Amino acid sequence: MENIITLNNDGSLNVPNMPVIPYIAGDGTGPDIWKASRRVLDAAVEKSYDGQRKIDFLAVLAGEAAFAQTGEWLPKESLETIKTHRVAIKGPLTTPVGEGMRSLNVAIRQELDLFACIRPVRYIKGVPSPCNDPDAINMIIFRENTEDLYKGIEWEAGTPAAKEAIAFIREKSGQILDENFTGIGIKPISRDNTKRLVRKAIQYALDHNRPSVTLMHKGNIMKFTEGAFLKWGIEAGEDFSGRIITEQEVWDRFDGRVPNSKIVLKSRIADNMFQQVLLRPAEYDVIACPNLNGDYISDLLAAMVGGLGLAPGANVGSQCAVFEATHGTAPKYAGMDKVNPGSLILSGAMMLDHMGWEAAAALVRSSLQRAILNKRVTYDLARQIPGAIELPCSGFAREICACME
Ligand code: NAP
Repeated sequence: MENIITLNNDGSLNVPNMPVIPYIAGDGTGPDIWKASRRVLDAAVEKSYDGQRKIDFLAVLAGEAAFAQTGEWLPKESLETIKTHRVAIKGPLTTPVGEGMRSLNVAIRQELDLFACIRPVRYIKGVPSPCNDPDAINMIIFRENTEDLYKGIEWEAGTPAAKEAIAFIREKSGQILDENFTGIGIKPISRDNTKRLVRKAIQYALDHNRPSVTLMHKGNIMKFTEGAFLKWGIEAGEDFSGRIITEQEVWDRFDGRVPNSKIVLKSRIADNMFQQVLLRPAEYDVIACPNLNGDYISDLLAAMVGGLGLAPGANVGSQCAVFEATHGTAPKYAGMDKVNPGSLILSGAMMLDHMGWEAAAALVRSSLQRAILNKRVTYDLARQIPGAIELPCSGFAREICACME
């Protein structure tokens, strides 16, 4: 077991020089982008540590490949393997169409209690952006990953459960709903899940010298769910013994100037937040939000820096972490060696950072940046960059490796 990553008592990782890391290649274009990503990650680790470190990638089954081999979409054994190895990486998985089948991605997050979905959003030079000043965009989203409307508690209109819920609502609130034609969904937001997410966001801000954490919520309308998220989020800030200051305090006590070494805890109503990040991106930094808000704002921010093809992501819990491409399986391009592997490659760089292998992570990012500045890119970028040369998925990976020289 000496090549297994273990957890220290303080929650940090103990990473051997040749750790075994499980991977799920994924469905559709997953195998293409995984092969390309692995090539880049292996090369960066080899170069950064003169061959003294190497990842021993271990295939685990999920999605269509798992169903074909085992009859299960997400075998228990795969989840166990990820749990015991602490760190894993995955390509996109198809959400099978069928009665009662949950999204496999949501299932992995919930089964492994990966409570924080972390999405850094930073502009890569040379990528076409719809914004005037994309260089000002440098944010990181901490999205609660286990509850809210994603919990999957809902009843179809006309079913006995929906009718019972409607009767209960009428009794408790006096609200009258059409009992035959109203679907019901439940939105749970809890104190403990909110606090652990916001604490993680604040800890990240402290560890990385980021100036602010913004709580994005719709608490003016949903007072006991999103409003409670704000209240509990502010309480979480109080646990950091004086390092956190609210915007109100900055104005009341310090005339609008943030005292040295303090991080400002901001609060923004969700709809306002969308215009804020578009019009004043430099004022936002770490963002913490409930699940559904996080889903929406992640894709907006990814689009602002050029789209999902280059947006990395991680799902992190207290016991393990899974790094994943943020886009889907793009099935029409499956097996064509065509799509952009950048999202999974950059998720791999996040994984290297998480392992403490920062030199390799930095090399991945700088080489990908150079490949894009060389205008030797996959179709999605080539069609937007004048004078670019289109490379296949594998060719883009080779180009990134060449940029490591
Ligand atoms: P999608 O797979 O993300 O693809 C939508 C479009 O986005 C593609 O047609 C392509 O645009 C572009 N695109 C996606 N990945 C790209 C890449 N790597 N490089 C360049 N362009 C890329 O979304 P979808 O078609 O809605 O979903 C397909 C399946 O993926 C569904 O089963 C869904 O459930 C699943 N899904 C999985 C995840 C996950 O595993 N985390 C996330 C989202 C969706 P063009 O057509 O313009 O070239």
